[in-house]
Amino acid sequence: MRSRYSAYCHHDINYIHQTYHVSTRADNAVTALSQFAKSCHFVSLNVNSVEEHADEGYVHFCVSYIQHNLLCQFSERSRFVYQNGWYYIDGVLQDASPVKIGRNDLCPCGSNKKFKLCTEHKLSANA
Ligand SMILES: [Zn+2]
Repeated sequence: MRSRYSAYCHHDINYIHQTYHVSTRADNAVTALSQFAKSCHFVSLNVNSVEEHADEGYVHFCVSYIQHNLLCQFSERSRFVYQNGWYYIDGVLQDASPVKIGRNDLCPCGSNKKFKLCTEHKLSANA
């Protein structure tokens, strides 16, 4: 589960695609996933809870990322199924409204630079 998040950060789109459950994989095209991951700089992942039953697992997590000049956050309760490995099947999403990052604000990527001067998250977003 965490591995999918780090795959987003490193633009390992094939991994994300492969860990979709086969029933949902077709709806999540590699190109669309790739465009999303490349337009974002991920700031944090917080896993709030993990539940595991026989062949079903739930992960409740919260993600924040910078997209253009917005700080976006969402939390999701993801459902995974176990079939020789954990596969993401679906999730209940709660979007928070994106917050505009002021040019003179401290950049939320953690660089300690003003947003207008910060290039660190841009490097990662375009990698
Ligand atoms: Zn930054």
